[in-house]
Parts: sequence; C-alpha cells; structure tokens
Amino acid sequence: MELVCPAGNFRSLREAVDAGADAVYLGLRDETNARHFSGLNFTDNELEKGVQYARDHGARAFLALNTFPGTREFFRWQQAADRGARAGVGAFIVADIGLLDWLQRNHPETPRHLSVQASATSAAALEWYRRELGIRRAVLPRVLSALQVERLAEKSPVELEVFAFGSLCIMAEGRCHLSSWLTGQSPNQQGVCSPASAVRWQETPQSLEARLNGVLIDRYAPDEPAAYPTLCKGRYQSDERDPYYGLEEPVSLNTLELLPQLMRAGVSAVKIEGRQRSPVYVRQVTRVWRAAIDACREQGNDFVAQQAWREQLAALSEGAQTTLGAYARTWQ
Ligand code: SF4
Repeated sequence: MELVCPAGNFRSLREAVDAGADAVYLGLRDETNARHFSGLNFTDNELEKGVQYARDHGARAFLALNTFPGTREFFRWQQAADRGARAGVGAFIVADIGLLDWLQRNHPETPRHLSVQASATSAAALEWYRRELGIRRAVLPRVLSALQVERLAEKSPVELEVFAFGSLCIMAEGRCHLSSWLTGQSPNQQGVCSPASAVRWQETPQSLEARLNGVLIDRYAPDEPAAYPTLCKGRYQSDERDPYYGLEEPVSLNTLELLPQLMRAGVSAVKIEGRQRSPVYVRQVTRVWRAAIDACREQGNDFVAQQAWREQLAALSEGAQTTLGAYARTWQ
C-alpha cells in the first residue's frame, strides 16, 4: 500500500518525502488544479526540482490536473500537462474525460490516475475509464462506505486509492455548486472552494463574524476557536433552533483504524488531504501514517492504531475532532 501525501509547495514536498511518503501530489499555480490558492503550488522550476527531489529519494510526484476546463480554456490544461510531462511527473491526476483522452494520445508514457473529482463509484465505470482512456488508478470518492470500497476492490480493473486523512468534502465529488453559487468560483472549474478573496472577518462587541461574499457563514463567541469559512461547514439557522452545522461539521476524516481492512481489500494507495496545510502539518501526518502502514504490514490483523498516533492526528484535525465519515455508514 502506497502512502500519497500533499505538497502545496516545495518545502511540503521535501517534508513529505523525508517523512516517508511513497508519492506526493502537487499542482501548478493556476486553475488547472483543485487547490488554486494564493501562495500555493509550483512554478516550472519548482516542479522540476520537486520531481527530481522525489525521484532521488525513491518517491514519485503526481501532477493534479483535476479541475474541469471551460469552453475556451482547454489549451491551458494541455499546456500544464506538457509542463508536467517535461518535468517527468510520475502520473497525471485527471477528472475531465476530454483531457484524459488528449493525454492518452499526447503523453501516453505518463500514467493517468482518475481524480476523485470524476466521482467513479462502480466497477463498470472504472472498467470504461480503463478501456477507453487507459487509466491505471482511480481515487475513490469519500462518499463510499468501507464495505462498498471492499466490494469495489474485488472487481476493480485498476488500482484503487482512497482518502485516509484530512478535511472532508461532503458532496458527490466534483459536483458541488455551493461555492460557485455564492462567490462565482468553484473547486470544479477555478480550483478554489470558498475563495479567500471573498472572505471577510468582522469583530462585533459580542462575537467574531465570518462572511463569504457578504453572507454570514459563522459567528464565534469570544473564546471560541474560529475556522476558515468553508460554505458547507458554516452554522446556519434553518428553523427555530439556534444556528447549527446543518450540512457538515468541521471535522477531519481519519481512517487509521480501517487500515487492516483497506490493506486486506487490496487498496493500492491511501491519500492524505491537505495541500493547503503547512509543511509542519505534512511532516507530522506523513510520519504517523508511514509508521502505521509499516506496522500494519508487519502485524496484519493484529494491528492496533497507537494512542499516540490518534492523539497526534486529532491535534492536527479540523476542530480537533476526527470521524470515519462515510466509511462507517453501515446502511450503504
Ligand atoms: S463547499 Fe464543502 S462540499 Fe462543496 S466543494 Fe467546498 S468543501 Fe466540498
């Protein structure tokens, strides 16, 4: 099982590789990837340096081209792919069918991984992507239960990668319109959810208010820790009750305890979310997961996640809380 870690910049890449990542994933400084935040991502020089650093240390660097090109901008995704191929990336992570097709014909030597954004959840869909577009791996959406992942792994014609740790996105991946509805920018096309340019913080005598394009997303009491105002994780008033997390609470996914099950099922890779997080975060999370995967390989069914690992991950989680998310849904 491969450990795939986030690299928002060269320092994070180095931390991930040094801490034991088998692969890192990264993006260029534009809307061709789903973490197009200011100050993040790679220039051409940094990309080359990052790919080389990973290679020198026995790891691979995957280039995320996982947003959906608009009607007039396809050439930008092509140019980004050309840049990645020149740098020698280990794989492209792609959601758009047209781009996958173009890559198959123009950069056949670079493996193609189906992005989580493509939302493929059946063996039939994976087989079609393999047959027609030559994907080698698919990243599964975070809406599947552990049992559904197992069932898919039994039949999948391609390698499977699943999310293991980090922020949750509750929508059918690649199909969330909340951010574009409110700000005109979406993770699907511009590579940014709830963009920082639309965020306003306002202190009032009673509270701290977080607004997105003028809309109140959350209101914090003076001693309450404030989170980034992601639209789906705000507190809203939908009836007579006090405002509450109607869509999703700000918690992080943590599948440490499912590791033996995922390994047994034949899942090829686990992914850590968080290209927007700091290099220190990347180092700490990678270390824990490296140790856990190695221990699970040795101990098999006897594997038990160490309390110290759980505590370290909880401390790095959104709201200092973790969840198994959809993996724990027994009714799915
Ligand atoms: S608003 Fe929430 S569900 Fe939608 S893309 Fe952003 S993080 Fe995901």
